[in-house]
Amino acid sequence: MDDWEKAGKIAAECLEYGLSLVSPGVNLMHLAVHIEKKIIQLGGKPAFPVNLSLNKVAAHYAPLMNDETEFKKGDMLKIDVGVHVNGCIGDTAATIGGNKKLIEASRKALEKTIPLCKPGTELREIGKVINETIESYGFKSIKNLSGHLISEYNLHAGFSIPNHNNNDSRKLQEGMIIAIEPFATDGNNGLISESVPSNIYLLENPRPVRDPTARKFLKYIKEEFGTLPFAARWLENKFGPLGFGLKILVKEGIVRSYPQLVESSQGIVSQAEHTIRVGKIPLVLTKR
Ligand code: MN
Ligand code: MN
Repeated sequence: MDDWEKAGKIAAECLEYGLSLVSPGVNLMHLAVHIEKKIIQLGGKPAFPVNLSLNKVAAHYAPLMNDETEFKKGDMLKIDVGVHVNGCIGDTAATIGGNKKLIEASRKALEKTIPLCKPGTELREIGKVINETIESYGFKSIKNLSGHLISEYNLHAGFSIPNHNNNDSRKLQEGMIIAIEPFATDGNNGLISESVPSNIYLLENPRPVRDPTARKFLKYIKEEFGTLPFAARWLENKFGPLGFGLKILVKEGIVRSYPQLVESSQGIVSQAEHTIRVGKIPLVLTKR
């Protein structure tokens, strides 16, 4: 088993574990901490903070240390788990709760793309299948979110895998690692817009910083997370309350702060995602 296969297997197991912990009243911080612990127990590292996005939030929510957000009966929760083993990344997501038909729409759309993950398939063919499948359930595919090519230590390593036919005629090639992630919504728009901060960050532009706290954080971020996204909570674990250190890094353009992505007509959103190795026989690396 190579590191891609190991990372995929751990990601799948941790997603399954996360889903098993969800019941009304469960605290999202508790969920995130347990899933991330499991990743490490199984020999991986988080490739990004576990995303726990509720209802109209499609993606990019990571709880903070003192977060009291709970999963309530009727909520729709997306759990998106990323694991890396020596930089080889497994990225996988599923939705639990509320609207079963909406969950089934994104799950089925993902399932139908797997046989297409062969050399020569055009990217738009994948998008077309996703969009048509989701529409057949009476929902909308979110067109401005997409899957992505993955390479070592790089989650978004080139082209996007569209969630609709966007006319991209570039082709999949043997051995590529790709994440496919359909999002389905009952909203009218099928588009997300950027909302409030997510507590997820990325080192974008490392350069010297004057403030001593910010400098200390920057050193740790470089060493521990490098080019991969990280959670404010991980810095809190190491340094305690963050004060202004992280804010300074963001303000100076050294660290990027990700916004939460919310369906723009306030629709509820479901997501399904696998990491797949392209081949004559496609290999679903995150198969549960
Ligand atoms: Mn993901
Ligand atoms: Mn992804």
